[in-house]
Amino acid sequence: MQVKRIGLVAHDGQKKNLREWVEWNREILVKYDLVCTGTTGKIIKEALSKCVEKNYFDNHFTILKSGPLGGDQQLGAMIVNGDIQMLIFFWDPMESQPHDVDVKALLRITTMYNVPAACNRATADFLISSPLLDEEYECTQQDFSSYTNRKI
Ligand code: PGA
Repeated sequence: MQVKRIGLVAHDGQKKNLREWVEWNREILVKYDLVCTGTTGKIIKEALSKCVEKNYFDNHFTILKSGPLGGDQQLGAMIVNGDIQMLIFFWDPMESQPHDVDVKALLRITTMYNVPAACNRATADFLISSPLLDEEYECTQQDFSSYTNRKI
């Protein structure tokens, strides 16, 4: 079975929250490949470094661009390509972001491709403890053929 890849992102106001969640769940998380936006990735790497071999980061950990510099869009492209199987995205409900349009796009594409996504800690707890995480699971895809074949 292909190892699942989990995307992780947190806005600045939620980074402490995500770090705590990662520390709490690190033994489960390191069984998967992780992909993070820039600053979130640095924080998570630090949080995980106590419990993994150094080569975990070479083989199973990817840091993309920082969110405002295009990292959210990189993650979105990975979702479109089927390269992310779950997203943990702690966005900040109290702050608008310079890249709000990218945040909206990432959430939209996650919904469109039916990728399980957690936008808060309780949902993240439910996802990380799901037995489906360790099973072959294919997200059903909506049929958009009437859109792609529409007459113009
Ligand atoms: P960051 O980006 O991890 O580089 O802070 C997160 C975001 O704001 O989307």
